[in-house]
Amino acid sequence: MRFDIVTLFPELFAPFLASGVTRRAFASGQVDVRLWNPRDQAEGNYRRVDDRAFGGGPGMVMMAEPLARCLDAIVADRGGAAPVVLFTPAGEPLRHAGVAQWAAGEGAVLLCGRYEGIDQRLVDRYVTHAISLGDFVLSGGEIAALALLDAVARLQPGVLNDAASHQLDSFHPALDGLLDCPHYTRPEDWRGMRVPEVLLSGHHDRIARWRRDMQLRLTAERRPDLLAQARAAGRLDRADEAALAPPPGGTL
Ligand code: SAM
Repeated sequence: MRFDIVTLFPELFAPFLASGVTRRAFASGQVDVRLWNPRDQAEGNYRRVDDRAFGGGPGMVMMAEPLARCLDAIVADRGGAAPVVLFTPAGEPLRHAGVAQWAAGEGAVLLCGRYEGIDQRLVDRYVTHAISLGDFVLSGGEIAALALLDAVARLQPGVLNDAASHQLDSFHPALDGLLDCPHYTRPEDWRGMRVPEVLLSGHHDRIARWRRDMQLRLTAERRPDLLAQARAAGRLDRADEAALAPPPGGTL
């Protein structure tokens, strides 16, 4: 798959693409990332890519023309059109299901805004998808693009050391969309805090039950919306419901 990133700050991407478990996906070209700077398409000595907003007000707006030239050059280079994703607070919040769809696709063009955003006419003409990282405002779309690239890369076959490990992560359908359970490693006693005994028992069924109970209780506490979805989809059995039931005479 191929991702073309349109950004005024291409230098932000190199350290990320060369680091961590996902670097294999980028180095091998399994996830082929290409960087495009709209400033290279701008005219004049100053290669200007932004201007003041019509109607007044503070802040600058990214001009349509340098971005349009960049996007046209990408289409020519790819030999055809691709989805064009704009990162914006007004987009669809990024969730596991969306990441899984992009991870199974052919890639996309990722458009990183800066300043107050992008001239709306460019958005209307070119953008096919809008994605938000959450209900807060970043200085630019680059961190959102990196978040999508990371999440997509780790779902590619052979990228994680243990092929099935992402199926044990929060939100995955294999986990019924629940949150992951707490994890522990050595030493067994750290500053007087002991690892839950069941994890030392070597009893696989009991460990699996404990993990499932923790997932259910954590999800009930932090993300009751996810628990309700799992329940509505018929993913909770009687043992699950028993784990969620308040103990007699008390709360969970
Ligand atoms: N004026 C815009 C607004 O209030 O919606 C915010 C512009 S922000 C300072 C600059 C750029 O950062 C945006 O064009 C967008 O590409 C990116 N950005 C900011 N917050 C984001 C978010 N929550 N999700 C995705 N991208 C975001």
